Amino acid sequence: MSRFTPESVERVKDSADIVEIVSAYTELRRAGERYVGLCPFHDERTPSFSVDSREKLYYCFGCEAGGDVFRFVQEKEGLGFPEAVEALADRYGVEVERDSEDPRAEEARKRRARLGDVLERTAQFYAQYLWDSAEARKAREYLAGREFGEEVLREFGVGYAPSAWDQVLTRGQRAGYSVAELQAAGLVQKGQKGGHYDRFRARIVFPVRDARGRVQGFGARALRPETKPKYLNSPEGELYKKSATLYGIDRARGPIAKAQRAVVVEGYTDVLAAHQAEIREAVAVMGTAITPEQLQQLSRYTEEVVLALDADRAGRAAMLRAQRVAGSKKLRLRVASMPAGEDPADMLAGGDGERVRRLIAEAVELPEFHVRVALDEADLASPAGRDRALDEVVPVLAAMGESISRDELARVVADRLNADPDLVMRRLRGQAESGGRTRRPAAAAEPDGGGNAAPAPARPLSARERRERALLSMCIASPAEGREFLERLTPEYLSGPVTVKARDWLTEHLAEPLAGLPRDDEELVSLVTALKVRAEREPGGREAMELNFLQLEQAVLEGRIHAAERQGGDPPVDLQRRRNELAERIKHWEGAGAGTARN
Ligand SMILES: [Zn+2]
Repeated sequence: MSRFTPESVERVKDSADIVEIVSAYTELRRAGERYVGLCPFHDERTPSFSVDSREKLYYCFGCEAGGDVFRFVQEKEGLGFPEAVEALADRYGVEVERDSEDPRAEEARKRRARLGDVLERTAQFYAQYLWDSAEARKAREYLAGREFGEEVLREFGVGYAPSAWDQVLTRGQRAGYSVAELQAAGLVQKGQKGGHYDRFRARIVFPVRDARGRVQGFGARALRPETKPKYLNSPEGELYKKSATLYGIDRARGPIAKAQRAVVVEGYTDVLAAHQAEIREAVAVMGTAITPEQLQQLSRYTEEVVLALDADRAGRAAMLRAQRVAGSKKLRLRVASMPAGEDPADMLAGGDGERVRRLIAEAVELPEFHVRVALDEADLASPAGRDRALDEVVPVLAAMGESISRDELARVVADRLNADPDLVMRRLRGQAESGGRTRRPAAAAEPDGGGNAAPAPARPLSARERRERALLSMCIASPAEGREFLERLTPEYLSGPVTVKARDWLTEHLAEPLAGLPRDDEELVSLVTALKVRAEREPGGREAMELNFLQLEQAVLEGRIHAAERQGGDPPVDLQRRRNELAERIKHWEGAGAGTARN
């Protein structure tokens, strides 16, 4: 991947409006020079998230998430740095230049861009055709008959593919695209006698976009009942991958992050109906099974996913697989049981939004749902039937891991099967011992959903890490003392290579720590920007710095003493003496009223 020139990156940064970007995820209000709100990276009741609109930085005093506008987009949208730059450049209409590029990579990138362009043009053509052509009158009537308003149809760019065989083919060629490109974009296909023709004809088309709103392909519904198949999608290709696609994610991701919940429905029209009914956190999977890739994507925006899918037996097996993946993403999966034989889109469009909202609110945890359905379907009259039911629910219970909700559910099972509760518990333990997977290890064993490398969720910082970060930000806040302390902070005092790098960076760039940060080192960029934002709130000053430094030294010393003790034998006398001395000095500085690291 070639790199953007530093000037390009700066131009993008200058144009980006960080307040607008963050506001898609949390409500911000102005507080003096900065904006504050509830942190979009951790759960909280009182705002500790702060945004500096001038420097384009954010920082959370609760979970210490922090960085610049690029970092925010990377974290929230699961993008790498170059993609984040590209996304913001697109959004704010900034031209970016790249350093000289590896020719093969450049070609591949240009090709993807061309395929994306022709898909976007075609989407616009279809949408215009829906509203303007006489041929699409039936489609307009059909959509109106299903109670879809023009607003939601236009918002999602719903269109109509003409019945002619070559509209997209000839328009595409006229616009300078080769037949091979049109085919790679999934817009035309090869005929049996050679030649090519439009893939989508006489169908209502739904452009499928990625999270950034780029068209990846189409889903198309036949208008005439005799046309088969009823739904035709873009073929799997360079851009369209069914298993990774979430229809509506470009419109829903902001609302999902805000509501801290995603609602997964089955089809295109369910998404339209849900959004029209103000359930804006709705997306659709293409089918009844949700895939690891899709869960991975959703986990960037929320920890709770409500499945409002058809829960037949096949769907349930898929949900159980999803549960195992979800465990590794810290996702809570719940199931809203849609009444059998009723289409959520019709319920919503028919003005029954309240009922659907209630079903979503009453969604039960996935394992509980599964157990209840298994019990409902079991043949409870015969011992063999009850055994079969027990066989089915034990792995589900085991997958929940030890918890109160599991034990409660186990009691329900025993009760319904008319079995001894001890038997259920014994079977559960047996499952655990025979390699039955408890929730965490199962999750770890599940292959990652692939796709983009999503940033790891914020790990809570140790007391020592908080302390060293506090001291480093104080160095920025009080540069005169800062220089001295940076010198004293040898690597031994610091808990990891990133902090050591940050210390080295600050030693050289204390006056302007953000200028010229090496962009390819994400950890360093993130840490230094966090320190800089924090510095503005740190009182700093010699006393506080001295105290923090002594406490860090104490931590180092304790580590050495422990190590000596682990090897058997008493810690060396000089270490013990130093420990006592430090304790005295810390007491002295605390007595002097120095503030210590915020905890
Ligand atoms: Zn936070």
